[in-house]
Amino acid sequence: MVVSVLVEIKFKQKEKTFDYNVPSTLKDKIAIGKRVLVPFSNRKLEGFIIKIKDDSIYNLKEIISILDEEPILNEELLLLGKQISDETVSNLMSVYQTMLPKAYKANIKSNVSIKMDTYIQLISNDSALEFLSRSKAKKQNEIVNDLLNNGILLKNKYSNSLVKTLQEKGIIKELKKEHYRIDNSTNVKKLNTLNDYQLKALNEIKNIDKDVILLNGITGSGKTEIYMHLIEETINKGKDAIMLVPEISLTPQIIERFKNHFSNKIAIFHSGLSDGERYDEYRRIKKKEANIVVGARSAIFAPFTNIGIIIIDEEHSSTYKQDHNPKYNAIDVAIKRAKYYNAKVILGSATPSIESYARSKKGYYGLVKLEKRANNARLPHVQIIDMKNEIKRGNKLFSKELLDNIRIRLDNHEQVMLLLNKRGYSSYLTCNNCGHVLKCPNCDITLTFHKINQMNRCHYCGYAEYITDICPKCKSKALRSFGVGTEKVEEEISKIFKDSRVCRMDIDTTSKKGSHKKIINAFSNHEYDILIGTQMIAKGLDFPLVTLVGVINADTILNLPDFRASEKTYQLISQVSGRAGRKSINGEVIIQTFNPDNYSILYAKNHDYDGFYNKEMIIRKKLKYPPYYFLALIKIGGKDFNTTFNESKKIGNYIRNNIDNNTFILGPSVSSISKINNIYYFDIIIKYKDKLIIRTLLNNIYLLEENNKKINIDIDINPINL
Ligand code: ADP
Ligand code: ZN
Ligand code: ZN
Repeated sequence: MVVSVLVEIKFKQKEKTFDYNVPSTLKDKIAIGKRVLVPFSNRKLEGFIIKIKDDSIYNLKEIISILDEEPILNEELLLLGKQISDETVSNLMSVYQTMLPKAYKANIKSNVSIKMDTYIQLISNDSALEFLSRSKAKKQNEIVNDLLNNGILLKNKYSNSLVKTLQEKGIIKELKKEHYRIDNSTNVKKLNTLNDYQLKALNEIKNIDKDVILLNGITGSGKTEIYMHLIEETINKGKDAIMLVPEISLTPQIIERFKNHFSNKIAIFHSGLSDGERYDEYRRIKKKEANIVVGARSAIFAPFTNIGIIIIDEEHSSTYKQDHNPKYNAIDVAIKRAKYYNAKVILGSATPSIESYARSKKGYYGLVKLEKRANNARLPHVQIIDMKNEIKRGNKLFSKELLDNIRIRLDNHEQVMLLLNKRGYSSYLTCNNCGHVLKCPNCDITLTFHKINQMNRCHYCGYAEYITDICPKCKSKALRSFGVGTEKVEEEISKIFKDSRVCRMDIDTTSKKGSHKKIINAFSNHEYDILIGTQMIAKGLDFPLVTLVGVINADTILNLPDFRASEKTYQLISQVSGRAGRKSINGEVIIQTFNPDNYSILYAKNHDYDGFYNKEMIIRKKLKYPPYYFLALIKIGGKDFNTTFNESKKIGNYIRNNIDNNTFILGPSVSSISKINNIYYFDIIIKYKDKLIIRTLLNNIYLLEENNKKINIDIDINPINL
């Protein structure tokens, strides 16, 4: 017997397998989807059995051992991996590794132990009752009574000698059960009764005959409640449910709502789990102890075998696309998995991606709308402030309207959220004498001043240096900071509103495990009056006392060199506005901008998604962007600027010579950040209609350049960021 094994070496070729003989002792245990240890050059490598073949005439090496009792990838997941590898033009082994928790890698697995708890249990109820009728030992009787009431109990709750006595008397026995690092068991809270609008939407979702349904419901309309009802119905039918959220750490409130109802039927998956915790959750699913998974992107690979529904909340979120290889999009994966199991995919959002909305308008997806807020709450009133006028009045950071409104809300004992999409203290430092701007020595990007530790930091490579006020170029003492970050906003707001309690949420204040939750809980308990944050605070949070949301500078995203800049601005403003006035008190949103006439800001002010969509589609069509064309981004990186540019031109020419006249190519041009970590980057963008032709072309480029040591090529199909 011979097996083809996919080994853990990342070749540029997507799927490179090697054949091995199977020693007769292992033949019975061979199955596709199991992992094996094989000799490779002088090393031992792990790999997946992909194919079983007849004996070979060649003299093959033998596999060393089989690592799994049961295949860890079943037929569905093996096939899924192949499709993802094809569509993202990435290595199959790296796809399989992405699909599995890290603990399944042999070298890590040894560090992740399975912990056991010891319980006690009655041997039989009858003998226990008989024992109680004649026993006078008070403490022994107590244990037996506890067990009659509870079934099983942790052994270490009781004294060893008492337990031993009862064991010797033949009343109780020990039982070992796996100890999971996460305890999801809670008391079950009943689901809310849906209101009429929600019921109507729920029925539409169930009755529309489409594989994918877009639930376009405004913020606070009660989408999460609908998800919970859908999941309840799914598991009642004995099927499994997957629910994806953009980032678990940002959505502790949603997780709480799910845990409170579904209790330990839920497994939670996210990047913050330790390898051990992740391994536990994964096995709870495999053992069918959990039939719901809630998680971020990678939870889409949960090893369920009877999926009934997949829900993707905030479907427009860029976190569903993995930004490193394999660059898969969890929505595409969801659609494939759902198709295999004949299940539905529900995409939920107040501000769907233009692509998803276009698909629903064209009838590829079903479309269900939810246009009223639950609890009779109204959408907030949005005011746009032209900062050009404010600057003339001497208000650099905060407009008069914003400050006046914060004052009013604080006087009413309500809460305020302020958003600025830039962390740190200032945006950059520049010399007042010679105009020199402080940049990272490794990257073509300005350094950000962080006041708290007196450092200038590069947000790309992590480079950090202590600040001075002396210009490194002209040596004069004239360095000044410009622009603002969240740290500065926090400082200024605390100065202006001396009596208020201010907290901040951004990468710098949330690097510790559990710190998101702490800040969110504290703010939720009204331990703070004002929450300042980056886009982290924009999504999914539900604070009933927040009545004012201020966007300090709406232009941070608008000015990005990305064709989705308007879409992202619209989404951010609507999402953050959605945090205001979620309960009975009416909400107010104040948006500060230097572009008060920009259409994405104006449509967001009027909560007019359809208006924004129509306008944006005209632009997309004219510029040949998605959803009219697909995009592929080829990033070429190299240490030497000129060499990299010349190699990029060669690749560009190769593409030009191999495309038809309905495919368009831009570049190579210098990437928007031209240098990161001392590597220069060039971009080539292809706009195309025919997926298959482009896939072949891109594969060929990988193969042609496999041995080109001067450059590194990275391909991103349907990139989320340009
Ligand atoms: P969305 O997910 O659309 O933003 P949520 O499901 O979070 O909306 O609902 C907004 C608020 O209204 C939440 O506080 C939620 O608990 C409440 N809510 C939604 N639907 C109901 C309902 N049917 N009964 C009671 N409260 C509800
Ligand atoms: Zn200078
Ligand atoms: Zn850098």
